[in-house]
Amino acid sequence: MLELTFLGSANAFATGGRYWSSFLANGRYLFDAPPTLLPHLKQLGTPLTDIEVVFLSHFHGDHFMGMPFLFLEYIYMTERRDDLFIVGPPGVERKIEEFAQQCYPEVTREAGYRRRYIEAQPGADQYVNEISFRAFPMNHVPETLEPFGYRVHVGDRTVAYTGDTMLCDEILELAEGADALVLDCTYCEGGGPEHMGIDDVRVIRKQVAAETTIILTHLNGEPDVAGLENVIVAADFGSYRFD
Ligand SMILES: [Zn+2]
Ligand SMILES: [Zn+2]
Repeated sequence: MLELTFLGSANAFATGGRYWSSFLANGRYLFDAPPTLLPHLKQLGTPLTDIEVVFLSHFHGDHFMGMPFLFLEYIYMTERRDDLFIVGPPGVERKIEEFAQQCYPEVTREAGYRRRYIEAQPGADQYVNEISFRAFPMNHVPETLEPFGYRVHVGDRTVAYTGDTMLCDEILELAEGADALVLDCTYCEGGGPEHMGIDDVRVIRKQVAAETTIILTHLNGEPDVAGLENVIVAADFGSYRFD
């Protein structure tokens, strides 16, 4: 069983009052960590110690700035014992630890658990806390960022996530065998720059297996998905289940 629960579904501008995009798989695997991470996890009532692995797609603020609040929570409010695994682009440990220390110097304090970082290495299966995943290089803002999409096996199901990207061939590889493909659909009309739009979704829908459910996120409005089979527009706090 795979259950995806969205903490938010908007682009960096929180367009239309939606919150920044992020989702949980089975309450244990977190995909991106926007500034609203902590309040939204609490609103969902998810036990904060259930989170085992955080997959960070890239280092734009709407995707990682929630991490310091989670670390702070584990110092003062919620006792954690199990390792927290954080997967991200090369340099992820330094990026996240330095940023967290700038926010709250005490995050370096002994807190009874370990933070363990894993850098994305595309081209091979990787393993984290008894699950396997694969990272795929995406095409977002090539001059300044090294963004990744992830395909993750959760039990007997598979979820694929593009993070932020323009249309690129790697998305088709990423989507192979996925029950759910969570897709950047920033633009309700057309497509690009830096992100995909509804025109790109139409292209991808034709090329990805019909049984793969496509879930649109990182939205700048309400995309019209009429005529598109098995395409869902994510809602904040919406849950989507794959049995
Ligand atoms: Zn973004
Ligand atoms: Zn971005």
